[in-house]
Amino acid sequence: MAERVLLVHTGGTLGMAPTGTPVSLSPGPSVARILEQVPELAEVAELQLTVALNRDSATMEPEHILGLSRLIREQSGDFDGIVLIHGTDTMAFTASVLGFLLADLGKPVVLTGSQRPLAYVRSDARSNLVDAVTLAARKVPEVGICFGDHWLRGVAADKLSVHRYEAFETPNLPPLAELGLHIQIHPHAGAFERQVPTGIGQAMEAALAVYAPFPGMNWTLPGERIKGVLIQAYGAGNLPMERPDLQALLDHCRSREMPVVITSFCPWGGVDLATYELGRMAFDRGAISGGLHTRWAALAKMGLVLGAGGGLEDVRRAFNVSWAGEPL
Ligand code: ASP
Repeated sequence: MAERVLLVHTGGTLGMAPTGTPVSLSPGPSVARILEQVPELAEVAELQLTVALNRDSATMEPEHILGLSRLIREQSGDFDGIVLIHGTDTMAFTASVLGFLLADLGKPVVLTGSQRPLAYVRSDARSNLVDAVTLAARKVPEVGICFGDHWLRGVAADKLSVHRYEAFETPNLPPLAELGLHIQIHPHAGAFERQVPTGIGQAMEAALAVYAPFPGMNWTLPGERIKGVLIQAYGAGNLPMERPDLQALLDHCRSREMPVVITSFCPWGGVDLATYELGRMAFDRGAISGGLHTRWAALAKMGLVLGAGGGLEDVRRAFNVSWAGEPL
């Protein structure tokens, strides 16, 4: 009997209409239309389609992503795997949130999309879709992004190219699978400890301020509504710690028990606040090292902990534990 795969459509370039520039969202797809355009999918699995959303992923909000998590959990019982068709712009963030929330699902959740719409010539949509459905039918319990020649763990992924068909990478983790002449799934796929705290996932705090420093930047204090801060520091976590406004910002957050997480602006490698004196100074003022977390995984983790009612110490603890195979 053929494997059953649930296709969940959320929008993005893959399903957009060939109306010239700018490309725009077309009315939601149907299985019949997808099978008409990619008939070989029927050879790979038995498909069912749910149009959950039809959005450019730049308009994704936390409620949409939490809703997708609920939908997948409710409907996954009848399927061997799930494929989520998603725009590329925020796919890595959705993959991070779902990677945490669905770590215990026990089934593949394969996110995919494309750089060119399915209806265009030379589109990457067709091969991405076929590869994603093939992976979903292989039953490896991972939430990952299938794009170009690779399947990548979602909680470690980032979009690194606007135009290359190989748009995503997990800079600090080898791919889960290579998709060439053969599909080679690596042994670490599905093999990670699940340590997501209970009670996570009802809500996600999005009142987070993100700072991307450059020499001379003014460190303005976060607004009243802000509940957490992410700083994308230089290199291994360096910041201009002699700046009084940065010191004031860190002290302000510490006095309000507001988490300040530091990730690196560099995709390869991560933060080690013990490497340089400047990093050490930030640590001494209460900053939390984001280590190898991508900014997406860091924002997802902080948002989920705060959304579940957790505080500063819960966020600190969360960054010391790999919840779902994200590199630390
Ligand atoms: N703006 C599109 C989206 O993220 C880009 C894409 O899908 O490639 O929905």
